[in-house]
Amino acid sequence: MIPTPELTDRVALVTGASRGIGYHIAKQMAAAGAHVIAVARTVGGLEELDDEIKAENARTGKGEATLVPLDLTDMAGIDRLGGAIHERWKKLDILVASAGVLGVIAPIGHVEAKVFEKVMAVNVTGTWRLIRSVDPLLRKSDAGRAIIMSSGAAHSAGAFWAPYAASKAAVEALARSWADETKNIALRVNSFDPGATRTAMRAQAMPGENPETLPHPSEIAAKVLPLASPALKETGKIYQARNDRFVSYRLPE
Ligand code: NAP
Repeated sequence: MIPTPELTDRVALVTGASRGIGYHIAKQMAAAGAHVIAVARTVGGLEELDDEIKAENARTGKGEATLVPLDLTDMAGIDRLGGAIHERWKKLDILVASAGVLGVIAPIGHVEAKVFEKVMAVNVTGTWRLIRSVDPLLRKSDAGRAIIMSSGAAHSAGAFWAPYAASKAAVEALARSWADETKNIALRVNSFDPGATRTAMRAQAMPGENPETLPHPSEIAAKVLPLASPALKETGKIYQARNDRFVSYRLPE
């Protein structure tokens, strides 16, 4: 396994940075020296993150954050974000697309249209639009790295998980196509399957579960950082946190 990278002066865009796994990825990337562009809707969560990053910087001199309150269903806003990053840095080194919603756990025929559409809008269309917005900036980095948060649900596709499972299968396909398009340049694109993690989303999906039995999001975030390393070789794969390995889900020929 690649060790936790040094990210001094790398520019990292992290969505879902107001809580859960994305919050801890943003915090740990800043602690490793990155300038984190932290995206979410909840300003309070982003400010809490900023306070923690500033406190760490006061101790170590490493890490900064730019807070971007943004709804990932705001397509024009996503485009403006890409433009603003270009204005300020001319490039992007790391994209972590961790924002996501569960929707509802229900039989497929009981899923309301507006719930299905919201899951697709945030998890799929928002991720695609973000990729489209920052792809030119990641190509300008000497070692661009993209990490797209997926889920085992994309493959287990169990009963009652249809909207979420379909959305995660879709983002994995986006990541794989993008990886194939960029395999001959420095950019590396991988999906990340965190497995069950102690967050608000997991509690919504499994309200009867004891959260203390699950890994804390900071433990999972620590497994994401190596995928941002300039030393990473893999692209177009899925990293499974529970097994600590890259897998490919291509069907046998
Ligand atoms: P979480 O605690 O619910 O956090 C979700 C994040 O997504 C929040 O920061 C939220 O920010 C952001 N978000 C949601 N809707 C948004 C929107 N419309 N615009 C912008 N940001 C939005 O979830 P998590 O468990 O950390 O999940 C992180 C990722 O891991 C997700 O992609 C999830 O599918 C995946 N995952 C999680 C688990 C698990 O067990 N936890 C398992 C497999 C995969 P705001 O609400 O502030 O906007």
